[in-house]
Formats: sequence, structure tokens, C-alpha cells
Amino acid sequence: MSDASRKVVIVGGGLTGLSAAFYIRKFYKEKGCKPEITIIEKDKVLGGKIETLHRDGFVIEKGPDSFLARKTAMVDLAKELEIDHELVTTNPEAKKTYIVNQGRLHPMPSGLVLGVPTEIGPFLRSGLVSWSGKLRALMDLVRAPRKSTEDESLGNFIERRLGAEVLSNMTEPLLAGIYAGDTYRLSLQSTFPQFGEMERKYGSLIKGMMTGKKPVETHTGTKKSAFLTFRQGLQSLVHALVHDLDDVEQRLESAVSAIEPRSGEQAGYEVVLASGERVAADDVVVTTPAFAAADLLRPLVDVTELDAINYVSVANVVLAFEREDVSGSFDGSGFLVPRKEGRNITACTWTGVKWLHTSPEDKMLLRCYVGRFGDEEKVSYPDEELIALVRKDLRELMNITAEPLFAEITRLPKSMPQYPVNHLRHIAEFRSRLDRMLPGIYATGAAFEGVGLPDCIRQAKELAGQMADRLAR
Ligand SMILES: Cc1cc2nc3c(=O)[nH]c(=O)nc-3n(C[C@H](O)[C@H](O)[C@H](O)COP(=O)(O)OP(=O)(O)OC[C@H]3O[C@@H](n4cnc5c(N)ncnc54)[C@H](O)[C@@H]3O)c2cc1C
Repeated sequence: MSDASRKVVIVGGGLTGLSAAFYIRKFYKEKGCKPEITIIEKDKVLGGKIETLHRDGFVIEKGPDSFLARKTAMVDLAKELEIDHELVTTNPEAKKTYIVNQGRLHPMPSGLVLGVPTEIGPFLRSGLVSWSGKLRALMDLVRAPRKSTEDESLGNFIERRLGAEVLSNMTEPLLAGIYAGDTYRLSLQSTFPQFGEMERKYGSLIKGMMTGKKPVETHTGTKKSAFLTFRQGLQSLVHALVHDLDDVEQRLESAVSAIEPRSGEQAGYEVVLASGERVAADDVVVTTPAFAAADLLRPLVDVTELDAINYVSVANVVLAFEREDVSGSFDGSGFLVPRKEGRNITACTWTGVKWLHTSPEDKMLLRCYVGRFGDEEKVSYPDEELIALVRKDLRELMNITAEPLFAEITRLPKSMPQYPVNHLRHIAEFRSRLDRMLPGIYATGAAFEGVGLPDCIRQAKELAGQMADRLAR
């Protein structure tokens, strides 16, 4: 292996691919290697799911809209790119979140952390769960813990500890925002491993959450905010990365159709584009969604584990209003809708209130999600129909009847990976097979060890570190 220069091809130019390019360049250079990096992206622009639209004074996110502050990889990268001064926090006045129950908005009881009650008083006073549901949840304090470290489904775990009512009325709608999934099919270990650890350590999820609860600090000063974004939208990070990676070849509108081992005795690979062009590579980093990675790798290696990762389709419908046209107090960040309510909207963020930088003062921006596991067909409804469904829910739940100034619809087909039970073990098995059979080909990104934006950066950074360590061997 010649360490002086290596050709690295990154397939997919979403946040994982861009961060991989950033950290591979950095870590390889630290080892005295000057990599020749090429990012190959099938779309017209880089950034993958991240897309910010600026329209009539609004900052509209068409994909993700913010990130968890306590996962530091994103803030660290923003600092490296010198754009951390553009980070903004949520409006501290918009703390409340509502959950719909029997057609009415109920405030989420204070102390609910990831859907788990950590303050008994507010939980007992909440109208979201019946008395028998509350008693069942409190049984968590005395029920014997499961000792096994084997994976189980998130739904099974919450139902076992807190009961079916808390699961359907509180936990599922809160967590659905991240996975849009069926909690009974999602892996506990791959989504909320801390829950299982708390059960084993404290004998109770509630006790564990109470003990582990810490005030949330951001990295931008004294204000506390669980979530952060950038003043001009998340695309600021993509633009800063693209700008910084000016010595990296960035090939757009170039779908990769195959990866082939180089012929003869030569080590390395050829990355084949849909146009027929071939790009030579010593290392290939695949950062596409699992189904696209599976298609590329299937001719070379068993991809059963990638095939097992299903994806859910969602759409977000952003509606802009004159502030005076929308009634209601908007004293929070929005509301979540449990599956059993049978609504079209799965969640609605009062974006204009939660993120003050997104809307002119006399306007209001609402962002409504449609689509979740088992309820995905609406995502492909024609625009007018989709808008009508969303407005029907807003009328019935919030009494909003005004005509919106405009609507922006983004459909994200097969965009939310569903980590199946035992996902971590399966992924480890897949990666070890990949390493054995195709050394120099790597696969990472949202399909693997965390869907959040900071998780994608962390994974790209960790992989870049491992690849750089191999150089020195
Ligand atoms: C609706 C929605 C809302 C979300 N909200 C949040 C949020 O608020 N906060 C948060 O932290 N996370 C959020 N997420 C999750 C987060 O956005 C994603 O996990 C993350 O953006 C994934 O980045 P990635 O680079 O791994 O994948 P992607 O962004 O999917 O990038 C993969 C890239 O590969 C390209 N590609 C695919 N096939 C090929 C091929 N054959 N050849 C070349 N290129 C190819 C694609 O075009 C794409 O650009 C949200 C996700 C969705 C869908």
C-alpha cells in the first residue's frame, strides 16, 4: 500500500459523504498522505436530505430542520469550518410541546424525557393517560428488571416497563418524529440503548431517567437549548463544507451503477458511473441509503443485512400564514399526533415560534409531517389533495381556517431507515464480511449507527480515523 497518495472515492454527497471527505483529507494529511478524493453524487446538488429554501423572508427547511446539541460532532465540525457563530437556539419561550389525545391538544407533562416520565406530579396530573395507564406506568418502579443484554424491540421494551397506554399516547408519538416507524419493529439497542442500560443498572426506567437527567447545555453560550440550527438554515453547513472541500473533486449528476475490483493483479477498485465512465479508487466509501448500497455491493458480497433495513416515506408540508390570520396562542413548539388518532398529520412544528429566525414577525410558518410506517400512501397524493388533508387536521385541531400565503411540499420517499431488532450485530457481521472480502470498501451513514445529523458526522469521522490508522500499518 503506497501511503504517499491514495485515491479515495466517496459514493453519495449527503452530510455523511461530505464529512467523510473532510475528515479523510484531514486525518490522511496528519499521516503524511495526500489523498486524491472524489465525491460522486447522483443529484444536481450536494447535501442529500439537507435542503434549505429562502422564500419571501422565510427560512424553510425541506428536510431536517435542526440537530441535537448534546451530540457534539455537528458543533465540532461547525467550529472547524468557522461557522459556529451562525448557530441559533430554539425560542426559550416555546418550551411546551402538545400531544393530541381524542382530538384535543394536551400539553406534554413537564419532566417527560424521550417519552418517559421523570416527574411524578405532572405525569399524574396529565390528561394524556388514564388513571389505570398511570398506575401501570408507575409499576416500572417496582417491576423486576430484565437482565438479558439481548436486543428487543423499542415498543416491546416500553410496553414491558411503562405499559401499552404510555407507549401509544406519549412515547410512540415523540419517537415517531425521529423514525416514523413502528416501535415494535425498531431495535432498542440501535435507537435508545440507554433505556436498556438504565433498566439493568437501576432496575427501573423511570429511576434511571431521573438519575441521569441533566440540564441541557448548548455550546453557544449560556442559553440552554436541546436543539440547534444555523441562522440561514442547515444548508449553511453544506455550503461551508463544499467551499472548504475545493481541492476535492465533486462530481454531480453522476450516479454510481457498479463497483468492480480492478482487473489482473492490481489492488483497488473501479467505480462505474451510469454514463459508463470508470473512476479508479484505492478506497471506496459508500454513504448512500442502505438499499442503494445493497444494489452496488450485491454482485460482490452478501448484503442480507442491508436488505433487512426498510425505509419509510414521509412528506413535509410547510404552510405560511399572516400572523393575524391564525388564531390560537402558539405557546409552544408544536404538537405530536399518536398513530391511534388516525389523523393525516403525524406532527406539526410551529416553526415561526420555535425558531424565531425562520419567519418575518408578522407571519407564521407551520411545518406538518405526513406519512409513517403503515400509512405512507398519502405521501404521494397530488399537492392539492395533500394540502387539503393537512389543512383539515389544522382546522379540526387548531381551528385554523385561513388561506395560507403559500405551501411548500417536500416528498422524501424511502427516507427514514428502520433499524430492525439486532441491527447492531447484523451491521457488525456485514462490515466484517465486507472487510474480509473487499478490503478498501467501506459503508457508513444514516443506515448504520444513528440517523441524526451529528450521528452521520460522527460515523464519517470515526471511519476516516480508522482508514487513516490503516495507512500507518
Ligand atoms: C424528513 C426528514 C427529517 C429529518 N429531520 C432531522 C432533524 O431535524 N435532525 C436530524 O438530526 N436528523 C434529521 N433527519 C435525519 C437526517 O436528515 C439524515 O439521517 C441525514 O441527512 C442522512 O445523511 P446521509 O449523508 O447519511 O444520507 P443522504 O442525505 O441520504 O445522502 C446520501 C446521498 O447519496 C446519494 N446517492 C444515492 N445513490 C447514489 C448512487 N448510486 N450514486 C451516487 N450517489 C447516490 C443521494 O442522492 C444522496 O445525496 C431527518 C430525515 C428526514 C428524511
